[in-house]
Amino acid sequence: MPPVVQLEDIHKIYDSGEVPVHAVRGVTLQLHRGEFMAVMGASGSGKSTLMNTLGCLDRPTRGRYLLDGVDVSGLDRNELADLRNAKLGFVFQGFNLLARTTARENVELPMLYGQRRHSSSQMHERAMRSLDIVGLSDRADHFPSQLSGGQQQRVAIARALVNEPQVLLADEPTGNLDSKTSVEVMGVFQKLNAQGITIVMVTHELDIARYCRRNLIMRDGRVVSDIPVPDRLVAEVEMTRLREAESAAKLTD
Ligand code: ADP
Ligand code: MG
Repeated sequence: MPPVVQLEDIHKIYDSGEVPVHAVRGVTLQLHRGEFMAVMGASGSGKSTLMNTLGCLDRPTRGRYLLDGVDVSGLDRNELADLRNAKLGFVFQGFNLLARTTARENVELPMLYGQRRHSSSQMHERAMRSLDIVGLSDRADHFPSQLSGGQQQRVAIARALVNEPQVLLADEPTGNLDSKTSVEVMGVFQKLNAQGITIVMVTHELDIARYCRRNLIMRDGRVVSDIPVPDRLVAEVEMTRLREAESAAKLTD
């Protein structure tokens, strides 16, 4: 099978300011279906720029990007938007949910912009299926303010899933969550990944990266390390461990 993502010598130079910034300097990598990669590196090392390239939100200055076999550089704005909508799902640190809109309606949003037309009952059904995958079908009518941070991020993941993307891109998805909730959210990603979705995730936290299958480290716009995770953590196991520690702590109170 050809890779889902193929980057060949990608460079990104921002030249809007006084001095051009060479944010990504020759990144070549492939992702196959079912991979789960964490992107790490110090602030300013080019992680977000690389993610924006992967997400077709920004064009590389140089280099070639094939997404699911399609050469992205040949596409115009509209074609890029369609490709993005069909193949990619996005999850952000700040959830980015619409406040006055229910969980279900938030999840329906990407279907409004897609090329495929759905009736409102189809949209409803698909949104509910997505919410079910993240374990929130019973919260469909809640507004974001009525949900915990972890639940809001799960709604955002359901939204990212609703068009059945090939790749999920997440920029610090656990950055706003406490450690227990982070493990919960990693559990959702691991479940999706087990079903075959390819995931790329930026994280600052080493222990979060250990839930992924592959760890990539960037420095000054270059990939300086790209290795499989040796002792992968399993979120379900960690959750059980956390719960047991909690009840043990209660007993000794
Ligand atoms: P990271 O996500 O690892 O913190 P970024 O990709 O955001 O790194 O940034 C890499 C470099 O590119 C930094 O030096 C940053 O200041 C610069 N940069 C990022 N976005 C822009 C932009 N839109 N215009 C100019 N410079 C930028
Ligand atoms: Mg960043």
